[in-house]
This record gives sequence, C-alpha cells and structure tokens, in this order.
Amino acid sequence: MNKWKKSIACSETSFLETKDLVVMISKNLNFVPLECPTCCLLMSDNRDSSSYLTFGCCNDCLMEVAQPNMERWKDGWRPSKEDRKLIKKKRLELPSYIMSE
Ligand SMILES: [Zn+2]
Repeated sequence: MNKWKKSIACSETSFLETKDLVVMISKNLNFVPLECPTCCLLMSDNRDSSSYLTFGCCNDCLMEVAQPNMERWKDGWRPSKEDRKLIKKKRLELPSYIMSE
C-alpha cells in the first residue's frame, strides 16, 4: 500500500507516488469544497465558487446569512450548529423546478 509523504521541498505539500502516478496535495491551493461549510449543501455553480473564495460560504448563505451580519461575519462569526441545521432544513424545503417531458 502506498503512503502519503511530505514533500521535501515544501512542508505544505504532500504527495503519493506510485509507479505511474504522482498525486500532489498542497495546503496553499485555493479550492472550493463540495459542501458549503455554513449550510452543508452542495456547491452548485460559479456564483457559489466565487462566494466561497471571497466569503467562505455559498451564494445563498452569502445573501441570507453573511450579508445581514457582514461586520460579525468578517470578524469570524458563524451561525450556531442549530441555526445551520435550520438553514439547511429551510433550503431543502424550497421547491425545485426540474422539467421533465
Ligand atoms: Zn451555504
């Protein structure tokens, strides 16, 4: 079994090396997670990506949670676990409009 190793050149990079493949993971990369850390729902489009890279949440959370609390948000405030559950529940109850034939 292959093991993850720390890069010699940069301690912020780990890599997995096999015969034909080298996978590098850098902690310095800006990446967008699959789920918004605030509502725990999947990121869905470029607006979510842009909002995450700027504010650390999806676009819906930016509009509903971060914008009304922007001063606290910038200071690191985030909704409580209970409030995040309510946000997720509310979003999941919104109607979706999937067209079928
Ligand atoms: Zn969100």
